[in-house]
Amino acid sequence: MKRPVEGVKTLVALRKRRPDRFSRLLICNEVIKAIEEHIRETGRHLCEEAAFLAGYVTFGSVGVVTTAILPYTYSSAGSCTLPLDVTAGCFKATKETGQVILAQVHSHPGRSWHSTIDDDWAVCDCPGFFSIVVPCYGRFGLNRLFAGGAAIYELTDGREWRRLPLKEIRNRFQLIPSSYAVV
Ligand SMILES: [Zn+2]
Repeated sequence: MKRPVEGVKTLVALRKRRPDRFSRLLICNEVIKAIEEHIRETGRHLCEEAAFLAGYVTFGSVGVVTTAILPYTYSSAGSCTLPLDVTAGCFKATKETGQVILAQVHSHPGRSWHSTIDDDWAVCDCPGFFSIVVPCYGRFGLNRLFAGGAAIYELTDGREWRRLPLKEIRNRFQLIPSSYAVV
């Protein structure tokens, strides 16, 4: 029996190691909102931006995204890079809370697709990692994530980036509310 992550009280058993493939990714609404604002703000200056989705992994190979990581970046109209110490800081911050970085997000000036630079310079090279590309500097937000506006790629165990078809995105990605009003 694998032990759950120490120091984190939860109702579900967590695993420290990421699976080679996530069955599903559950994403808190607030995380999406924070990333949208971050990407749009830089997009107003006609520059690309990047962010990360961090969270926990259950034994059912479900990723639960609880946290938006908004790194400092060097951004331009057609590129976005992270200083090495910032990248290291992102991993350190998640490790301290028993989280893992489950996906990266970055914006493009135009259409959403994975360039060869995106293929080669992803922040994580583990199978099962997701890379989300948002079109038009994030002007339309991530609301269209499940409507085909953003492109989602998954790193396979053969280290190939596979673009997920819309039907699969709808089956494997789900937004969950960050709060409920109960009356
Ligand atoms: Zn790109």
